[in-house]
Amino acid sequence: MNMDQSKIPQATAKRLPLYYRFLKNLHASGKQRVSSAELSDAVKVDSATIRRDFSYFGALGKKGYGYNVNYLLSFFSKTLNQDEMTSVALIGVGNLGTAFLHYNFIKNNNTKISMAFDISENKIGTDVGGVPVYDLDELESRFPADIPVAILTVPAQAAQSITDRLVKLGIKGILNFTPARLNVPGHIRIHHIDLAVELQSLVYFLKHYSTEEKMV
Ligand code: ATP
Repeated sequence: MNMDQSKIPQATAKRLPLYYRFLKNLHASGKQRVSSAELSDAVKVDSATIRRDFSYFGALGKKGYGYNVNYLLSFFSKTLNQDEMTSVALIGVGNLGTAFLHYNFIKNNNTKISMAFDISENKIGTDVGGVPVYDLDELESRFPADIPVAILTVPAQAAQSITDRLVKLGIKGILNFTPARLNVPGHIRIHHIDLAVELQSLVYFLKHYSTEEKMV
C-alpha cells in the first residue's frame, strides 16, 4: 500500500490513531479479520466513513471477509511512524500538566514527554512522573532541536508569548490546552483542546438535541 499522505483528508488523518488503537486491541486478542460494521461499532464512526477512510489507504475490504487485521495494523503503524519515538515538551506543570506528566502516553502511541518547564520555584528542579522540570527562563538553552511538539498547559495570558518563543525554537506543532487562541505562522500546526468548552458543549447538546439527531 503506497500512498501520498498529503492526499489523505485531514478528517481521515485525525481518525487514524483511533483506528490504530482499536486494531492493536483486536490483534492482541488474536483476531485475524474485522468487518467495517464491527469497526464502526467499536470506534463509533459510521461504516460508510470507515470504508471511505480505508479506501484512501488502498485498503479495500472484501465482501464477506472484511479487513485483514495484521495487514492494517502494520500499515497504520508505518503511517503513524510508530517505529519512531517522538519527544514532546510540556510547558506549565499545574494540575493538568502534572496529570499529563504522570500519564503513560507510550502505552498507546510512540510519544513521550521528555522535559517540562514552569516558572514556579516549587516546581523547577523537581521530577514529575520521571520528567525533569526546568525553569522557563532556560527554555532557549535547554530546548533540543529534535523536539517537534509542545503541550501548553499554562494560564491563558502566558500562552502567546511562550508560543512565540517556541516558534523561534523551530517547534512544528502545539497541543494547546489553554483557552487562548494562538497566532502562529502558517507552517505551524495548532490543535486546540479547551476542556471547559468541550464539557459545556456536551451538556448543551444533551439538553437541546436528541441522540437521533446527533452530529458526527
Ligand atoms: P491547571 O490549569 O493546569 O489546572 P493550575 O490551576 O494548577 O493549573 P495555573 O495557574 O493554570 O495552575 O498554572 C498552570 C501552571 O503554569 C502552574 O504550574 C504555573 O506555575 C505555571 N505558569 C504560570 N505562569 C506561567 C508562565 N508564564 N510560564 C510558564 N508557566 C507558567
